[in-house]
Amino acid sequence: MGYRCRKCTGQSVINMRQHRLALCGDHFIEWVQKHTAEFIRKHRMMDTEDRILVAVSGGKDSLSLWSILLDLGYQADGIYIDLGIDWDLAETGYSKRSLDYALAFAHSVSSRARFHVLDVKGVYGSSVKEIASRGPAGARRKFCSACGLIKRHELNRMARELGYTVLATGHNLDDEAAVLMGNAMNWEIDYMKRQALVLPSSDTGLIKKVKPLARFYEREMAAYAIVKGIPYIVDECPFSEGATSLGYKEILNSMEKNSSGTKLKFYFEFLKAKKKGLFPNHVPPELGQCEKCGEPTGATGLCAFCRLIERPGRSIDHITQA
Ligand code: AMP
Ligand code: ZN
Ligand code: ZN
Repeated sequence: MGYRCRKCTGQSVINMRQHRLALCGDHFIEWVQKHTAEFIRKHRMMDTEDRILVAVSGGKDSLSLWSILLDLGYQADGIYIDLGIDWDLAETGYSKRSLDYALAFAHSVSSRARFHVLDVKGVYGSSVKEIASRGPAGARRKFCSACGLIKRHELNRMARELGYTVLATGHNLDDEAAVLMGNAMNWEIDYMKRQALVLPSSDTGLIKKVKPLARFYEREMAAYAIVKGIPYIVDECPFSEGATSLGYKEILNSMEKNSSGTKLKFYFEFLKAKKKGLFPNHVPPELGQCEKCGEPTGATGLCAFCRLIERPGRSIDHITQA
């Protein structure tokens, strides 16, 4: 309240304590775009020749990312993975409402970009909920890990099959810092080795993955979407309630309150330490190709995704690849 924009002395819409910077709407949009462009260049995420596929969830981060990339002049299309979450709740179900936001934005940029929707139930015959609930004890953790696995597999597969060279996700700093905290608390060294801003492509069919918004706080991305007039789904996935990652976000936020810049420091000092050799002799795992779907995998035979959807309980004969 009461802060003036540093650039024009107009009324500010946001005060970023960690940068000691308050900006008005126009200058905030300009600031976010400029820093995204610099971040992309610094980490060699993409260039204007790339065909970029943005993974769009209907939330503030991924819709803002798509909008920013288009404004910066990149060739960026969108894809929404319809996980079928609560489709039985007709108009109110989570996946349906998220899709509506993604569709509305896609429509607004239809002269500049294409939009793909992958319907998991339509392709594989079951929603994520049904796939995850097979086998013993349908705990939430199992749902979230099945959901993550399906998203990763299908995003890579679709990007590859549709000929995209880069897959961009909307992970923000709060997401990345919370994941890092979870990995550090449990000493998940293998996950920490893989946590990166850029994951390179591979001959086995991995598409290059990038996180162009990882330097922005969650509240900055919410402000961006609001100032830009991009409507987005505010609710979290109904299955994420009580998730440990949300707990880590709360802890990091309270630390940030006492000492602004904590999140930035925690995450970027980790990336620096990695560069300096925090994990010496790190060799990425060797990948082969899944016998069934052809996606890259560290497993022999079927990849984790194909094993998941092949679990007893239903036949896979009628599966068609989109
Ligand atoms: P989350 O894991 O939900 O925090 O999402 C992280 C990022 O994954 C988002 O910013 C999107 O880029 C992508 N994403 C999440 N859900 C979907 C979805 N249903 N379809 C496509 N991309 C998604
Ligand atoms: Zn201003
Ligand atoms: Zn497979």
